[in-house]
Amino acid sequence: MKKLITLFTSAFLLAGVAGCSNPVTTETADNFDKEAAVVVIGAGGAGLSAAVEAADQGAESVILLEKMSSIGGTSFVSQGMIAGYDTQIQKATNVTITYEQMYENLMNNASYRLDPELTKITVEKSGETIDWLIDRLNVPFQPEAIVGYGPLQMMHIIGNEEVKGGFALNEPFMNALQEKGVDLMLETKATEILMNADGSVKGVKVETAEGEMNIGAKAIVVATGGYAYNPELAELLTPEVAGTFGIGHPACTGDGIIMASNVGAALTHTDNMMAVLKDYEIMAEHNGNSNTANVSRFIASPSTILVDGNGVRFVDEKSGGYMTQELNSPIFDRMHKTDYGYVWAIAPKAEIEASEIKRGLDMEFISGETVEELATNMGVDTQTLVETITHYNEMAVAGQDSDFKRTTTLNVLEGELVAVKVVPCEIITYGGIARNEKAEVLKADGSSIAGLYVAGEASANSAYMGFTLSNAITWGRIAGANAAAYTK
Ligand SMILES: Cc1cc2nc3c(=O)[nH]c(=O)nc-3n(C[C@H](O)[C@H](O)[C@H](O)COP(=O)(O)OP(=O)(O)OC[C@H]3O[C@@H](n4cnc5c(N)ncnc54)[C@H](O)[C@@H]3O)c2cc1C
Repeated sequence: MKKLITLFTSAFLLAGVAGCSNPVTTETADNFDKEAAVVVIGAGGAGLSAAVEAADQGAESVILLEKMSSIGGTSFVSQGMIAGYDTQIQKATNVTITYEQMYENLMNNASYRLDPELTKITVEKSGETIDWLIDRLNVPFQPEAIVGYGPLQMMHIIGNEEVKGGFALNEPFMNALQEKGVDLMLETKATEILMNADGSVKGVKVETAEGEMNIGAKAIVVATGGYAYNPELAELLTPEVAGTFGIGHPACTGDGIIMASNVGAALTHTDNMMAVLKDYEIMAEHNGNSNTANVSRFIASPSTILVDGNGVRFVDEKSGGYMTQELNSPIFDRMHKTDYGYVWAIAPKAEIEASEIKRGLDMEFISGETVEELATNMGVDTQTLVETITHYNEMAVAGQDSDFKRTTTLNVLEGELVAVKVVPCEIITYGGIARNEKAEVLKADGSSIAGLYVAGEASANSAYMGFTLSNAITWGRIAGANAAAYTK
């Protein structure tokens, strides 16, 4: 019931997705409680960068809205690994990477599903972004870049001995906000973008502990992050991912995507997200989270196979890692075809125990000394599972997976077996609000909404694994600079 109510709310708020071509004008009189030249919504990496850059570029006044009680969002809980080339850190350590290598690496990781023009900018500015964090903000970095998300030594690690990962951005950004007189409003949730009759923005409606307020703005930057904590919205935008659970930062509920959509913004690439396989039962029945429901090592175990809710194998289990679209898409597909909210991972008990893989919340994996016993304990049809595993073992002995062309670790499943239900859970979303190279928000007809900008995970299709933090900061700066220029 809760799911239905939330979905209904999202559907109502998302009226703009389906057909709102004209901006909604909700205010007639300019009775604002507060005003600023630029209002930035969301104080994660993108919003903080937008606010600082807008102020640096001479915006008369900047308000930064944050619905939580502290700044940072996903950016501050991230590992703080940020991709870039030609940085002062790489120059000092004699690491040379070309633009072409970076672009190819990113596009290849993303299976070429990104917008080439926007991605070009993300890559071109990636090094400059890191140098800006160092020179403008005094963000501490590890002395050397490391290899990550491909063969390149492109990952710069934020933090030092005292403060590790994304949280090392906190103090530098807080200092910059203070120095530039940015008005940071914590526990202030933006709920609606207010429009002028001519289709330009004029402000933001917000909720605070004291009640509702209207804040006037000449330009607005939406930097509210993605929707990796809103599975109902994910399903509404892309039915193929129905059944996912949200394991992103709890603030990432897609608020900005909904607000922008309600004033006519187009959304794109919402079928593109990073989902990580998790323990279904812990997620569904024990209110699990990314850590308690972790099954990554079980999935990565050499002999693991996947079968659907009926006990039928359906994929090359080693075609992609436990968080890739190559593996998750067929899993979602199978969940829907079989009408189960999960698929099963099965592995030899000895292999799982030897690797000291434990189930979260001190629970035991389902086990069976024979395939028949395992099927009974799993609650799947015994004959089907016996047939599946017998056939798989015959292919393993022959050294050829004639069904799904698995080429690695095609091992016979024997001895006592263990099983666990798994489901892809969304952790980072790559789709969102459409925009151009100036970070201006676009409508479905390709025209822009005057005064409305977007950056970071709220926006679509210019980043993928390893580049998301870089994308947030780079595009935050672009949005902030263009918003400031617009107000003049
Ligand atoms: C566990 C984890 C680790 C990661 N590690 C890395 C990494 O090492 N490298 C990398 O490149 N990427 C990483 N990522 C992805 C990356 O961190 C994010 O894509 C990026 O930080 C998004 O930045 P953002 O500013 O767009 O959103 P966020 O940092 O999430 O900020 C959005 C902000 O908007 C606020 N907000 C939302 N709605 C409203 C509203 N209605 N009103 C006011 N405020 C609102 C939120 O509270 C939040 O503070 C990781 C992601 C996760 C989940």
